[in-house]
Amino acid sequence: MVTEMSKLQISDVRAIPLTANIEEGTRTSQGVFGAVSMVLVEVSTVDGITGYGESLARFGPRAYAGFINEVLAPKLVGQSAFDIRRLWQQMRSALSGRSGGMLVEAIAGVDIALWDTVGKALGQPVHRLLGGVGRTHVDCYASSINWASLEKMEEQARQVVSLGFKAIKVKLGSPVARAIESAQRVRQVVGPGIQLGADANWAYSLDQAVAVGHALHALDYWFFEEPIMPDDVAGYAHLRKTVSVMLAAGESDYTVAHAAQLIKDRLVGIIQPDVARAGGISETRDIAALAHAFNVAYAPHVGWSGAVCAAASLQLAAAMPAFTSFECMFIANPLRDALTTLPVGAATSLVDGQLPVPQGPGLGVDINWDAVQRYRVD
Ligand SMILES: [Mg+2]
Repeated sequence: MVTEMSKLQISDVRAIPLTANIEEGTRTSQGVFGAVSMVLVEVSTVDGITGYGESLARFGPRAYAGFINEVLAPKLVGQSAFDIRRLWQQMRSALSGRSGGMLVEAIAGVDIALWDTVGKALGQPVHRLLGGVGRTHVDCYASSINWASLEKMEEQARQVVSLGFKAIKVKLGSPVARAIESAQRVRQVVGPGIQLGADANWAYSLDQAVAVGHALHALDYWFFEEPIMPDDVAGYAHLRKTVSVMLAAGESDYTVAHAAQLIKDRLVGIIQPDVARAGGISETRDIAALAHAFNVAYAPHVGWSGAVCAAASLQLAAAMPAFTSFECMFIANPLRDALTTLPVGAATSLVDGQLPVPQGPGLGVDINWDAVQRYRVD
C-alpha cells in the first residue's frame, strides 16, 4: 500500500526473456512446437512496489526484451504508474503507422505490469479495479486435444475428461475428411454432455471451412475457431452466412480496432484476444467491453503463454460482463506451472470444472525467481 499522496513514480522497467522446452509438445495445423518463450516485464516504483507483466513472444524473446529495455523503458521512468493509458499512448508513439505486431505485444507486457503495480499500491485485485463483476471462479475449457492420429486424439480426449473438464477444445487440420473424422471420434469418446470446440489455426480455404463447419454443427460443436486466415474478414462474413456453427477468433488481433472488424457485424460469436498480445489489460478490456455492447462473448486466449498472462486473463475473466470461458491449457508448460509460487490457471486447480481467480492485490501472484533464473535466456 502507498500513502494517499504517493504518485507511484516509476523508477525502473526491465524485461527478462524466458524460454523453456516442453516435454510433450503441441501439434496444430501449423506444425509442432517443442519450446515456449515469453518476456517477463518488471516495473519498479520509488515507493518500493513492483509489478509484473508478460509479453507474448512465441519466437525471439531477446528481441522483445531488448526493445522494451531500450525503447519503451526510457519513456516511462520518472512518470506515475497510475497514468496507465497515457503511458500506453506514449509507448505506442514509439512507432508510426498502424498498431500491431511486436510493438503492441511489447506494450502488453508493460501495461500488465502497470496494472499489477497499481493494484498492489491500492491493496486491491485487478478485477476489482476493472469494475468488479465479482466472479471468484470462472468457467473454462481444456485446451487442446492435439491434431494427431485418431488413436492419440481419442486417448487424449479420455484423459481430459478424467481431469474434470466440462468443455474441451480440439485442434483440427487438413485433410478435411480426416478433420471431420477426428471431430466425430472425439464426440463419440466424450459423449453428448461435454461441450466441444474446434480450432483449425487457419488451416482451411473458404470452401474447406464451409465443409468442416457444416460437419461440426451436425456434431453439436460449440464453436469453430480460426477456420481461415485472420486477415480474411470477408471470408468470415461469408462463413457467418453459410454455416450454423458459432465462429470464434481474435487471438491474432492486436487492438480493439482489429477486433471491431469481427465484432461489429457479429461475424464471431466469441472474441478471443490474448492479453499478452492485444496491448495488455487496457486494450483487452476495451475489446471485451466492445464485445459486450455487440452481444458477442469474450473468451481469453492463453495458449502457450506463461503464468503472468494466465493471471491477467483470470482477472479480466472475473471482471468483464461478456466473459464466457477461460482457455485452460492442460499440457505441462514450465513457464505457466513454475513461474509463480502457486499455480494459476492450471488444470490442477480445477474446482467442479471451474478455475479460481487469484484474490490478492494486483494480479494476485508472486514470481518464483528460481524459475526465472532457470529459464532466462538473456
Ligand atoms: Mg487458437
